[in-house]
Amino acid sequence: MYKFGVIGPGAVGAVIGESLQNSDYHVTFLGRKEGKVCIERVEDPESTTFPVEAISEVETVFDYLFIAVKGTQLEGIMPHLDKLMHADTVCILCQNGYGQLGKFQLPGNTYQAVVYISGQKKGNVVMHFRDRTLILPENTVTKKLKKVIAASNLDIQLQSDYRNEVWYKLIVNVAINSVTALSRNTALILQEEKVQSLCKRLIQEGVEIAAAEGVYFQEKVLEEIMKIYAGYPSQMGTSMYYDMINGQSMEVEYIQGFLYEKSREHDLNTPCLDTVYSLLLASEMKG
Ligand code: NDP
Repeated sequence: MYKFGVIGPGAVGAVIGESLQNSDYHVTFLGRKEGKVCIERVEDPESTTFPVEAISEVETVFDYLFIAVKGTQLEGIMPHLDKLMHADTVCILCQNGYGQLGKFQLPGNTYQAVVYISGQKKGNVVMHFRDRTLILPENTVTKKLKKVIAASNLDIQLQSDYRNEVWYKLIVNVAINSVTALSRNTALILQEEKVQSLCKRLIQEGVEIAAAEGVYFQEKVLEEIMKIYAGYPSQMGTSMYYDMINGQSMEVEYIQGFLYEKSREHDLNTPCLDTVYSLLLASEMKG
């Protein structure tokens, strides 16, 4: 029987672990310290609790490791990875943004998933709002993973145009995360036309950077993403907004920072991105 480990029992990690555990796969939740994580859903009185083991104490060697810490927390798990893996362990990095695989010495069998799981962790309770989808590049390793976990309700989608999915999510994230974090306000701000215009310009700049990287979107993508934003409840925050108001590190390096680097590499003119990126960096500076 395959052994599955989930590093980072947060909003995304807990839901992945739950999907596997409920179908009787052998899953270990690995957190910073020993404890538990409880998953709740609106309008569902039932909640489920799973034990969490301290990553530093676990001695199991896993066949599949789902890494669901935030990009800013990757460094903290690196010293523990070796002992959790054998030569053929497959790692699935479940994070927003891009460029992490180039910055960290993650094992060769690592693939980054485009994550469509929506939730929020407070204390040791995860509120799962919707979705259980991971989009991965299509290859023999990911095909096998999909087969191995076919009995679970984790929806693994293998895409031949995976890069397109990565860039689409990056572009969706760059505008809404930037404006909500910098204004320290929720999706309510989309009611202001000037904020909508700024979002559109950020999306357009993202589309231009993607094109320079050989990933092309049709013109209607702008309207499509603005429609997604329009569907957000006004009280909804984004992960960067929550990190900002809670004084936690934001995943700026892998979203705005990644796009900024690509923009410079291709010598593009991206004034809105450059501005929001500078201000986000400035907001994290400490004396
Ligand atoms: P959370 O903060 O909910 O979860 C991260 C988890 O990792 C926490 O349980 C945290 O523990 C744990 N952790 C941190 N450092 C370590 C460590 N050194 N060892 C073990 N565990 C550790 O984050 P999310 O699940 O929201 O986000 C994960 C990724 O998924 C991010 O890249 C995010 O952008 C992306 N994403 C999130 C979505 C969402 O709706 N939440 C949607 C789509 C993508 P502790 O609580 O102790 O800090």
